[in-house]
Amino acid sequence: MTDHAPYTSPLAAELGPDVRDRFLRYVTIDTQSDPDSSEFPSTAKQLDLSRMLVDELQELGVTDARLEDGYVMASLDGTGSTVVALLAHVDTTSDAPGAGVKPRLIENYDGGDITYDAAPGLLLSPVESPDLRAQKGRDVITTDGTTLLGADDKAGVAAIMTAVHYLHAHADAPRPPLRICFTPDEEVGKGISHLDLDALGAEVAYTLDGSTAGTIEDESFSADEMIVRFTGRQTHPGTAKDKMVNAMRLAGRFLDALPYAEAPETTSDREGFVHPYSIEGAVSEVTLRLILRDFDTGVLEERGRRMTKLAEATAAPFTDASVEVTITEQYRNMKDHLRERPEVAGIAVRAIETAGLKPIQGFIRGGTDGSMLTAKGLPTPNLFTGMHDIHSLKEWVSVQDMADSAATIVHLVRAWSKL
Ligand SMILES: [Zn+2]
Repeated sequence: MTDHAPYTSPLAAELGPDVRDRFLRYVTIDTQSDPDSSEFPSTAKQLDLSRMLVDELQELGVTDARLEDGYVMASLDGTGSTVVALLAHVDTTSDAPGAGVKPRLIENYDGGDITYDAAPGLLLSPVESPDLRAQKGRDVITTDGTTLLGADDKAGVAAIMTAVHYLHAHADAPRPPLRICFTPDEEVGKGISHLDLDALGAEVAYTLDGSTAGTIEDESFSADEMIVRFTGRQTHPGTAKDKMVNAMRLAGRFLDALPYAEAPETTSDREGFVHPYSIEGAVSEVTLRLILRDFDTGVLEERGRRMTKLAEATAAPFTDASVEVTITEQYRNMKDHLRERPEVAGIAVRAIETAGLKPIQGFIRGGTDGSMLTAKGLPTPNLFTGMHDIHSLKEWVSVQDMADSAATIVHLVRAWSKL
C-alpha cells in the first residue's frame, strides 16, 4: 500500500476529485442523439453540455473555446512541433433512456454484487462484468437502474477536461500545441461528418472513447456496403409457365447460399463477415443490402468478389433474369494508415505505461470516429476511459479508471512535446 491508494499513481490521485466532480456534473445533462433525425446535430439538447464545456474552458483560461457548427473547439499553446488533438463525444445513445440520470457513487466498493433500488431484478455482478473485480476498494459510479449512465462518452469528456485543467495550471512544463474537440452525434454515426479538419489543424489525434483501463485501440474493421439488385420477369401467374422469373425467389436462393460460417452471428475476434440487413422488392425486382467486414482489407475485397460471383451464379441459369452488384467503401481499418505512423500508437502505449498501467492493444469490431478521421488523413487511435456495460441500465465507471485516463492524457501530451 502506498499513500495514493486506491489510485494507480500520485498524479491519478491528484486528478481523481476533479474528474469525479466533472463526470457527476456532465452525466446529469440529457444529451441523447436521435438516429431518425436529419438535422445536425440530431438533437439540440446535446449542445446544452457543449455550451457548458465552452463556459468551463473559458473559466479555466482557455480563451478561444467556442462552439462551431455543433463542435466545441479550443486550443492550448505549446512548443512541440506536432499539433495534437484530443476528441470525445458529448452525445449518448438512444438504446436506453438517457434523461434524468441519477448517478450513484459507491465509495470503497466491496467487490460484491450491486443491486438497484429503483429496478428490482437488475444486478451488476463481477461474474458478468469481470472488470468490476479490479475495482474492489475503489469508487464505482453507476445508475439508479432506470437510465443509462452516459459514461460513453462523458468519461472521455471528463478525462480530457481534467487533463486540460491540469496542463493549463502547469503551463511551465513543456507541451505541444493542443486542440480540444467535443463532437455531437457519434452514436448516430455522424460525429465527424461536419468537422472541418483544416480548422482543427492537428497532425495526430486521439479519441477518448474506449473501455478497460490501459487499452489502446488502433485497429478497426475495414467496411464495404454491397447492394445486390435482382431483376426478374413479371407475368400473369395463370400463364406464367416457362415465362415468369420471380426476383424474390432469386433473392431467397442467394441469401441461402451466403456462407453461414461468415455471418455476424457465427464470428468473433478478428474474423470478418457478410451480413444481409435489408430486403425490399417484389416479383419483378428485389434489392438486397449487405455489409461486408474484415480486419484485413485484402480479405474484405476478396469476400466482395466472392459474393458478387455468388449473386451472378444465382441469376445465370435464367435467361430473363439479371443481377447488378455495387460495392461501396465505407471505411478502412485504421491500422492500414497507422502503420505508416507507428509513433502515434507507440507514444500512447508508453504514456499508458508511465501512468502505471499495463497496455492492452485492442481492436474494434466496428468503426469509430477515429477510423473515419484516420481514413481522412488524421491518424486517430482510441484510448480507454474506464466506461463499462455501455448502452445499458447497468453502465458503470470507476473514479480511479477515469483518473488514470486523465493521467495518461497528461503523460501523452508531455511525450509529444519532446518530438
Ligand atoms: Zn462512445
